[in-house]
Amino acid sequence: DVIDFAFTADNRFAEPLVGYYEGEGSPKVTVQVLYPPEYASNAAPVLKATIDSLAYFSRTLGAYPYRTVTAVIPPYNAGEAAGMEYPTFFTADGYDDVTPGTLNAHRLDFVTIHEFGHGYFMGLLASNEFEEPMLDEGLNEYWNNRMLSERGQGVPLATRLLKRLGFSAQFPQFQAERMGAMLREPADGIGANSWDRMSSGSYSSVYSRTATVMRDLEAQLGSVATERAFKAYYARWSFRHPSIADLRETLAEVSGQRALVERVFAQQVYATGKIDDRIAKFDSDEVLPQPGTQLIDGKRSELDEETIEKQISATRKEWKKANPDAKEGSGPYPFLTRVLVSRQGVAVPQTLRVTFADDSVETAQFDGALRWQRFSWSKPVRAVSAQLDPEQRHYLDVSKADDGRTLEPDKTLSWRWSSDAAAILQNLYALLVTL
Ligand SMILES: [Zn+2]
Repeated sequence: DVIDFAFTADNRFAEPLVGYYEGEGSPKVTVQVLYPPEYASNAAPVLKATIDSLAYFSRTLGAYPYRTVTAVIPPYNAGEAAGMEYPTFFTADGYDDVTPGTLNAHRLDFVTIHEFGHGYFMGLLASNEFEEPMLDEGLNEYWNNRMLSERGQGVPLATRLLKRLGFSAQFPQFQAERMGAMLREPADGIGANSWDRMSSGSYSSVYSRTATVMRDLEAQLGSVATERAFKAYYARWSFRHPSIADLRETLAEVSGQRALVERVFAQQVYATGKIDDRIAKFDSDEVLPQPGTQLIDGKRSELDEETIEKQISATRKEWKKANPDAKEGSGPYPFLTRVLVSRQGVAVPQTLRVTFADDSVETAQFDGALRWQRFSWSKPVRAVSAQLDPEQRHYLDVSKADDGRTLEPDKTLSWRWSSDAAAILQNLYALLVTL
């Protein structure tokens, strides 16, 4: 039953840092951190991240069945030994400066959680890493991001200097993940094996693309159903050898939403489905009477432009008198609001939400294999904004910026889905594949 074996020996190791997990969900676990003196500052964060992981994985998946876990911080210049996992034993990494809130502190946290997580995703759930890396690196990455998100952690965008200046922005975990998920030109389904991929970049997408696919599935299934299904997956398959089909079957059965689970697996696990929905056009215009002939009391008469304009301005005046407190964007004439939604990838269920000047809201469903659909509403008020995927269920969509439009310029949108942050995150993804 021994699946792997590793040991470490170094007479320069400092006195090990020892702590315990005595929380819910698992028997008492002794946690030991072995570290070289040059990375003394890393020992306490690694111990804390390991104990926090024990709490999270015990609660969300099931009991950690061993009495020990040992984390090793490799010495300076031994970075190649960092980020490796064995049952009850893993190597984290070492950083010169792990000031809380900086990118390095986050990296240390992440690598610790990730390598500990492998104790579950392929240690206890003994899947085949070479044939189905999604069950190993992919699910682990997903669960790591869940844990960090639950703790309110994101990827810090601040260096130590910027942090001293009071800059402490962070990028939400799953938004950071999707940037490494080859959204625009996905090359391999996440269920593909590890050894026959288009490129090493496509192999590394098994981490972030799986995390994004599973995150989107969770957004559609609901977190309670998802966690119940993953607990069942762990209960049924720990100390056995699950395959992707076993995961799919457990998710479908336990969530009770088989069609949804099977659709996501067909599109993203066994195939490579780009998702790219957008609002292509959005307008909301007042519908005014037009010049031309019309029937009044059975007689055809012609209204020229001048007469019409006089009529309109008289009607407006009267309406304003009657509605002195009326909001901008309302009036005596109806507004025709039209939204054109277009689809350039595989079909996913989408919701369109349109908000109007009086704060009223209309929603519509964009489903099925249609490439485009036009929705329209005639209301006494003008529309203000249109939002596709208002519940953020599809992070796999190539661009979230084109999911929303306002009829007045919205400056917050460009920041929310800024691609500037992508540059800062590039080196993070360069590291991912080695974990
Ligand atoms: Zn890994």
